[in-house]
Amino acid sequence: MRTVKTHCPYCSLQCGIELKAGDRPVTLQPQPDFPVNRGGLCSKGWTAAELLDHPDRLLHPLVRERDGDRTSPFREATWDEALDRVVHGIQHAQEKYGVESVGCFGGGGLTNEKAYTLGKFARVALRTPAIDYNGRWCMSSAAAAANSMLGIDRGLPFPLEDIAQAEAVLLVGSNAAETMPPAMQFFDQGRAGGARHIVVDTRATPTARGSHLHLQPRPGTDLALANGLLHLAIRRGLVDQQYIDARTTDWVKARSGVNAFWPDRVERITGVPESQLHEVLDILATARSAMILTARGAEQHSAGTRTAQAFINLALALGLPGRPFSGWGTLTGQGNGQGGREHGQKADQLPGYRKLDDPQARRHVAGVWGVEPDELPQPGLSAYEMLDRLGTAQGVRALLVMASNIAVSAPNANHVQRRLQALDLLVVSDIFLTETAALADVVLPTAQWAEEEGTMTNLEGRIIRRRRALPPPENVRDDLTVLKQISERLSRGQYFSADAEEVFEELREASRGGIADYSGVTYQAAEREEGVFWPCPEGAEQDGRRLFTKSFPTMDGRARFVRTDYREPAEAADAAYPYLLTTGRVMQHYQSGAQTRRVASLRMAQPEAFAEIHPDLARRNGIESGDEVELRTRRGSGVFRARLTDTVRPDTIFVPFHWGGRSNANALTNPVLDQFSRMPAFKVCAVAITRPGPN
Ligand code: SF4
Repeated sequence: MRTVKTHCPYCSLQCGIELKAGDRPVTLQPQPDFPVNRGGLCSKGWTAAELLDHPDRLLHPLVRERDGDRTSPFREATWDEALDRVVHGIQHAQEKYGVESVGCFGGGGLTNEKAYTLGKFARVALRTPAIDYNGRWCMSSAAAAANSMLGIDRGLPFPLEDIAQAEAVLLVGSNAAETMPPAMQFFDQGRAGGARHIVVDTRATPTARGSHLHLQPRPGTDLALANGLLHLAIRRGLVDQQYIDARTTDWVKARSGVNAFWPDRVERITGVPESQLHEVLDILATARSAMILTARGAEQHSAGTRTAQAFINLALALGLPGRPFSGWGTLTGQGNGQGGREHGQKADQLPGYRKLDDPQARRHVAGVWGVEPDELPQPGLSAYEMLDRLGTAQGVRALLVMASNIAVSAPNANHVQRRLQALDLLVVSDIFLTETAALADVVLPTAQWAEEEGTMTNLEGRIIRRRRALPPPENVRDDLTVLKQISERLSRGQYFSADAEEVFEELREASRGGIADYSGVTYQAAEREEGVFWPCPEGAEQDGRRLFTKSFPTMDGRARFVRTDYREPAEAADAAYPYLLTTGRVMQHYQSGAQTRRVASLRMAQPEAFAEIHPDLARRNGIESGDEVELRTRRGSGVFRARLTDTVRPDTIFVPFHWGGRSNANALTNPVLDQFSRMPAFKVCAVAITRPGPN
């Protein structure tokens, strides 16, 4: 038996795991001393080894019985046959409709090496601008906010352990106690040491119930709340004018933008009592160290970027970023949501967090790739915009999906499923026959977390090693190999490697000098040092563990305030849809549930989708606990089991988004996009509720 140190396949914490590997099945236990989990794991992590030998696992490529007819059943195929079908479909689409008619959709669970290679594959092998990934729906608003104000987008600009040292924490839109339980030890340690914690959440989640103060605003109004807090901080003389003068610019824009956010107005918009606004500032402004952390609850809105910016305004006004155990950060969600957007699988980015429309960036990356800068396509459409046009005259006709179950996780999911069905060719690489794979022409079985080498970048910007404990099953290939083999069939194989470390060495060069500079990171250092924080330029004396201590990575070294005008959510409750819907996660399941719904103990603990409904709302609608209820929005409907609870607001219904079929929460969600980040408004829309009638 060998012991292999690697990391959990799920969320952005990337808890350290030790695998005992010999014969299958492998067993796992937490790494006792890895700094982010310190021996802790959640139920998803503890059961992750079950995925490796799961009876549902795809073990052969699948193609349709009749080529081009998706009503015909799947049959097993050889890799040669499957890849020939893929390449034939790509060539056919590009000859008929042009090179841009072929696209790629990636995932925030891909290793850095795979995300990098997929971005390069789209631009060099396919020569298409059409590539984006599901991280667009996760982190993009916080990323846009941080880039515009702080000059860099790294989830947490400090290590997680700093949370334990902060005297005050304002956590907005995160239910970390259920989504990443091992992280709570840092919050718990802080509170045990006297820190005061505030949670802003539309639900009284376990995280909120464990805090000192819980604010429960109307969904979609966090921006008004943040503006109101800044207004009050100015009025009460709590801003740090010395810090503002020395380290920031454009203060007047932010200050004038919150003039009209009187506490009574903020109370009317958000439902948060004026007294609580004062309490928040009493806690934040009197602490010697304070953090403001946002997450998807604040960011997945049509004004998500402005909301994250408003909280950064507040942090800057209080003089927090760059001070010990202080600042603003965002808690990322997906395992490699951070690294996934640094290396080029996002529509507008090249490796190193470079911009695809920057001539200098194009020259640098083209030079590393051995192509001419002019050969690289220009930026393509964002994730939902690409999916919305699939199969149309202006859209992609042949799509390769890697590590993403978009039939469940996309907003307006019924529409996206119809668009997927309209494609000439859909190829899905995954470990299970997900709802998306079930719509495909060709399904490619891929290697899993414990079967591959590579790196991931966690929510702290810590680059860690994913290590192979056992080989994949005989007929299963890893995505790097598959991308190289498709490229070879397109006569572009010479540009690609299937060896993870070789890819990483190339990534180091491609990122050199960029914002996300990995040039000083090696596999050996990532292993030896329990991860290396980026930015890490080669030759640097230390890595980027704590950012902003002396300056910000902007042109003038200063952070920039932004005016954050408030807009109401894109959809309001009305007579036809009288309530608000919000979505989120439960402890046992991860993202679309494609993996966790297949793990017996997780499924038993949380077997079906449900709707959390306030007893008053239930009474008005004649609903009892345990009833099936139908939720309807302007886009679709779904059936959910009613759970009556006063942890939700009386005007709001909560549903988790881990199920497909008739209980797909995203059949309901609104795809209206944030103007800056192109993030859909997952977190709020108008909804009607009924009990389904007899069939
Ligand atoms: Fe895995 Fe996240 Fe759970 Fe840690 S918290 S065990 S990384 S799912």
